[in-house]
Amino acid sequence: MSAHGPRPAAGRAWLGYLTVGLVAIVAYYLIPRHGFGVAARVVVYCLTSTSAAVVVLWAAVRNRAGARVPWLLLGLSQVVYSLADCTFYVNHYLLGLTGFPSAADVFYLGHYPLIVVALVLLIRRRSPGRDLPGLLDASVLAVVAAMLSWLYLIGPRARLDQPLPVALASVGYPVMDLAMFVVALRLFLGTGRRTGSFALLSANLLAILTADTLYVLQQLNGTYKAGNFLDAIWLGGNLALGAAALHPTMARLAEPTAARENVLGWGRIAALCGAALIAPAMLVLQHVTGGFHDIPVIAAACAMLFVLVIARLAAMVADQRRLAITDALTGLHTRRFFVAQLPIEVERARRGAGSVGVFIADVDRFKSINDGHGHPAGDRVLVEVADRLRRAARAGDVVARYGGEEFALLAPGVRPAELASIARRLRESVAGSPIAASDAVLLDVTVSVGAACYPQHGGDPAAVIAAADRSLYAAKVAGRDRAVVCAEEVDQPSVDHLCRMADQVDLRLGSRHDSRAVGRWARLLATELGHDEHGIRVAGLAGRLRDVGKIVVPDAVLLKPAALDAEEWAVVRQHAEHGFRLVDTVPGLFAVAQTIRQHHERYDGSGYPQGLSGTAIRWEARVVAVCDVWAALLADRPHRPARSAQEARSVLRAGRGTLFDPDVVDLFLGLHAEGRIDAPDLGRVG
Ligand code: GH3
Ligand code: MG
Ligand code: MG
Repeated sequence: MSAHGPRPAAGRAWLGYLTVGLVAIVAYYLIPRHGFGVAARVVVYCLTSTSAAVVVLWAAVRNRAGARVPWLLLGLSQVVYSLADCTFYVNHYLLGLTGFPSAADVFYLGHYPLIVVALVLLIRRRSPGRDLPGLLDASVLAVVAAMLSWLYLIGPRARLDQPLPVALASVGYPVMDLAMFVVALRLFLGTGRRTGSFALLSANLLAILTADTLYVLQQLNGTYKAGNFLDAIWLGGNLALGAAALHPTMARLAEPTAARENVLGWGRIAALCGAALIAPAMLVLQHVTGGFHDIPVIAAACAMLFVLVIARLAAMVADQRRLAITDALTGLHTRRFFVAQLPIEVERARRGAGSVGVFIADVDRFKSINDGHGHPAGDRVLVEVADRLRRAARAGDVVARYGGEEFALLAPGVRPAELASIARRLRESVAGSPIAASDAVLLDVTVSVGAACYPQHGGDPAAVIAAADRSLYAAKVAGRDRAVVCAEEVDQPSVDHLCRMADQVDLRLGSRHDSRAVGRWARLLATELGHDEHGIRVAGLAGRLRDVGKIVVPDAVLLKPAALDAEEWAVVRQHAEHGFRLVDTVPGLFAVAQTIRQHHERYDGSGYPQGLSGTAIRWEARVVAVCDVWAALLADRPHRPARSAQEARSVLRAGRGTLFDPDVVDLFLGLHAEGRIDAPDLGRVG
């Protein structure tokens, strides 16, 4: 058999079957209802019904392509159904047995569960994974159908005073129909291919449900007559099932749709809205007609409809949100999500004195991949690059598609010293092995990576991204396929200028070299504490510049020979904040500026300006605090003379663990005892 479809003759078999079947139905109604005619009608009816069973079972057994089990079950259900038909018509017309329920009813009722199982199997294959919207929509309609069925079909029959077998059988039909209706709805509202075979199967279900419902209604008001127009609907339904099995698309009945989108179109909204309004409409109807019954059933239906509508809304909102933060091609986060997440992580890092790493990876010469192998090949490469980057990231990192062929990684808690190794890991994850651009083409794809850190390379989200971007540019200029970590691009003339300002402050206070000494000691302590080059530089420079903010404190306060009053203290205390603002004007000095702001914070929280305590104070600031106090104690001040080293040592010891970080105090005193804390040059200014 050709892979591209069945032979033309086989392709039209379903149409031939339908035509012959319709002729048989017409003949059924034309045959006289007396004499030989009675037997002839029974034969035509049973043959038509049985033909569908034979055709479906034959097609199901022959078909090995797909949906085999559901089709076998459908075939089996039709066998049981035609058995029921034959039993009923032979009993009714030929043997005159018209009792209810009979053996025929056992067969009729037995065929429903087979159909329901077949449909459930079909649904699960047509909508793999979860199709919550389809399920919820079907549930709305099912609730309304169940309510109507109870009000008009099941309830009235259950209330009739009749023997148990009769009651069971007569309630059994509407209950089974309801079960079939619910799965049929789910099938129809779910995803999956809508082929000719699917349409014919739907027609079969619709016909059986319609005829069954009319049958129960006619039974209730006593108008049912065997052999009336309902037979045509039932037979038509049987023919539709046979034709569905003969249709060339029968094997594809279980295939899911390519794009699994379940769109909420206007038609569906109108249908859902109309259905949901039926429950309250029932209440109004009862109010108008004055015959109240089954109020709890209607109320329960209303409540379920409310819950289902809210659930549908919630699912839709969740879906929209997922779409907004997920890149359609690669499944990574979108740039929008990345840009929203970065300030949150930066703020968290700021509060916890932590850091945040930002990496931008750009595919090298990607345009040539598009040009050489086509846009779809380019897309495939992007998907694979995204996958590799995602696998190279740690749990908790945000990996986003930042631009066309540009990706960004947000790594909370990453310190400057770790940037290089992470950037290298990202680069190597892409370059490690060739990428399949198509089934036949393998490409060596590389990326360039730029890396930067908050707060070391930028004091706010935009500045960190800009720093990572600059590094990426540097990597491209340097020849691509490499990772570049943001260099400390501090403008040296600006730093020199700030240092001269610090000297000015020293000069005014009469201590020419205090800031140099504090800077020196802070560097030494940072080194002894085992910090990297960057940390040592920050601590040293912060020590050197810690008091630049005093440049704006008036002489009358700064040089006052007596103790300061509260207002004057407030002015002096502002130097930490002023120093922060001054130093932060120089790009790349954010960490230094932060340290300056915190160098009067105290370990027990009694310091200023923020009252931080413990490790919420930057370690650099805890180091500078001790060095600063040491220098102050050894200096002559207008309101008090200098202390001796011995006295200064006991001041530090007294503040150990309360005012000052105990480890820093221990280290400082140890270094001092070893003679490694040199003297500040206390040269007095005349
Ligand atoms: P380099 O970065 O090494 O400087 O060179 P490049 O060729 O990668 O640089 P450029 O940024 O100029 O080119 C990026 C190309 O990526 C241009 C654009 O057509 C292509 N592109 C952007 N988005 C997509 C996409 O979603 N799919 C595909 N296939 N191509 C895309
Ligand atoms: Mg590129
Ligand atoms: Mg680019």
